[in-house]
Amino acid sequence: MRAFNFSAGPAALPEEVLKEAQAELLDYQNSGMSIMEMSHRGKEYSAIHAETIANIKELLNIPEGYSVLFMTGGASTQFALIPMNLLGEGQTADYTNSGAWAAKAIKEGQLLGNVNIAADCGKEIPTRVPTLGELNLTDGAAYLHITSNETISGAQWKQFPEHETLIADMSSDILSRPLDVSKFGLIYAGAQKNLGPAGVTLVIIRDELAKRCPDTVPTIMRYQTHIDGNSLFNTVPTFPVYMLCLVTRWLKAKGGLEAMQRQNEEKAAKLYAAIDGTDFYTGTAVKENRSTMNVTFRIANEELEAKFIAEAAEKNLKGLKGHRSVGGIRASIYNAFPAEGVDALISFMKEFEAANG
Ligand SMILES: *Cc1c(COP(=O)(O)O)cnc(C)c1O
Repeated sequence: MRAFNFSAGPAALPEEVLKEAQAELLDYQNSGMSIMEMSHRGKEYSAIHAETIANIKELLNIPEGYSVLFMTGGASTQFALIPMNLLGEGQTADYTNSGAWAAKAIKEGQLLGNVNIAADCGKEIPTRVPTLGELNLTDGAAYLHITSNETISGAQWKQFPEHETLIADMSSDILSRPLDVSKFGLIYAGAQKNLGPAGVTLVIIRDELAKRCPDTVPTIMRYQTHIDGNSLFNTVPTFPVYMLCLVTRWLKAKGGLEAMQRQNEEKAAKLYAAIDGTDFYTGTAVKENRSTMNVTFRIANEELEAKFIAEAAEKNLKGLKGHRSVGGIRASIYNAFPAEGVDALISFMKEFEAANG
């Protein structure tokens, strides 16, 4: 039996996608080979590669002048590549600190150049992201970096700041809602939350930005290299891109990002209503910034939280333990997470409160 998998990442994938991958695992379209055994420059994989880029461009309505790249090293590598490529000597980059992931991006920026923390609410509880009004921006900053959804704390930007070069770590909410890509200079996301399996990082970059990179940056670490090579400068992670291709097809068949947003908001609203309906559970993020992807909450004592997580797992509700750095309970309900799983969790929350409240 398949579990209701609330893991934050790697996370649940659509069952239809897993079955399709299974069906063609040994023999991809009568080639006698698995897609993962084939050349990354052969005709079968080339078609997958091109379709995945086209699907992402279509789903996000990406304008001319942007490239869609498949890279490796996760979002964590992007933390370093962004300042290496885009933060010139003597320039300052603005970063917002909204929590653990933003802080990691900031740390890499500081290793490589001047960083201004434009707003810092990273350690506040209840957790939140900065308001647009509190940003203390630098004139002529190389870029402004934000973390669109803090996966650990469950705080999400609902409205984005305006900036000539806005950069966003969207690892845990990309493709969960429509987006005006033209407002961003660069968007990046590790695949393992909302896109597919671990192993590929999606980067969407305004082409002109890549030209800023200083000559001293090694070839593999330049965005321009990956733009010029159509993400085939070195061996692209073919199987993760293939899985991403299947996920993008699934998203299109489900009605695209408007439909996803509707479903995600419905799932999240139900779960937050269950949390708010009783004093037994307390939401971790301020209401205006509650994530539709990672729903975080607490019970008054940690023993009860441990009991909640263990009993939920026995009922096939898996992966509810909060991040080890903060504890508590976290229900990650990405695009692929079914609405029935949210209903099952809500029923369990009621039973658990009745028995322990
Ligand atoms: C998971 C996550 C990361 C780290 O991703 P890796 O692929 O493990 O490097 C960075 N930012 C956010 C918002 C995340 O959720």
